[in-house]
Amino acid sequence: MSCTILRGTEFAEAIKSEVKSEIDRLARERGYRPCLAVVRVGEDPASAVYVGNKIKSSEEVGIISEHRHFDDTVSSDELLRVVQELNQRDDVDGILVQLPLPKRVDERSILEAIDPAKDVDGFHPMNVGRLSQGHASLVPCTPAGVIEILKRSKIDIEGKHAVIVGRSNIVGKPMAMLLLRENATVTICHSRTADLPAITSQADILVAAIGRAGFVRDEHIKEAATVIDVGINRVDDADLARELFTDDDLPKRLAAIEKRGFTLAGDVSYKDAVAKAGAFTPVPGGVGLLTVAMLMKNTVDAAKARRT
Ligand code: NDP
Repeated sequence: MSCTILRGTEFAEAIKSEVKSEIDRLARERGYRPCLAVVRVGEDPASAVYVGNKIKSSEEVGIISEHRHFDDTVSSDELLRVVQELNQRDDVDGILVQLPLPKRVDERSILEAIDPAKDVDGFHPMNVGRLSQGHASLVPCTPAGVIEILKRSKIDIEGKHAVIVGRSNIVGKPMAMLLLRENATVTICHSRTADLPAITSQADILVAAIGRAGFVRDEHIKEAATVIDVGINRVDDADLARELFTDDDLPKRLAAIEKRGFTLAGDVSYKDAVAKAGAFTPVPGGVGLLTVAMLMKNTVDAAKARRT
């Protein structure tokens, strides 16, 4: 059977276009544009790219963005003061602290200091609690994006067995809550799960959020399943790339390793997924694009909830 490739580009563009229309309406009828403040610490190149993408997308949809960048000597107290100031500012609708923070910063106390009404990443315990109780809340962007991909692709969730590999606070756990909210039967797996393939191979919907390139292989996948690959990993080993990618895809992957030292791969073997799954999200070009689009949506939702 053939595998449908679920490309993030078209879904992300559709969401951003809906968000832009809503922002234009708010500007016209209510006289404001939502404002997102992004706090970044240190010089981690991946964080710099992610923050750059968030600011660029904000500009594209008409969100006012503010970028606060601190060097990695910044103290927890200083960051707490910044969060408090942003909490108090009436013009700021969303606050995002880019993770990871340096080890010596108390990440939890910073995230818990964010006003839950402005918590556009959905990581505050208040929003996590609301989500687990099934109430409307600001929901973490990556799992929210996965639900959008499933719904916009008309893939049934209700009554299906969804298996998530990974139980992090930012992906695995909220993913489970969102799939439960959509009436899936949900199983969560992790590094201590016994006989992982026996469980994942029962999944109608398999979500991989592990952080290990090509970990999910043929034996983990049920025939015709929908496989959602959340992982983003750097692969610098040409032999591993030969295992993971199809003959069509491989030359450009090897060229990327040659040229810049790595190619990006998900947690699922691309080769095995396209051979066995019914639908599959590629990496890059899959879930990652939805994460930023959902951040834009959360910022508008936060603004509308605060400013009514
Ligand atoms: P974490 O490292 O926080 O969590 C990884 C999870 O995978 C843990 O629950 C861990 O289990 C589980 N795990 C690790 N090894 C195994 C194994 N051998 N068998 C089964 N389970 C295992 O990662 P994140 O959730 O933050 O991220 C996961 C991936 O998603 C990463 O590649 C990350 O880059 C990517 N990501 C992508 C985003 C996007 O926008 N597309 C956004 C966020 C993340 P245990 O709890 O037992 O240790």
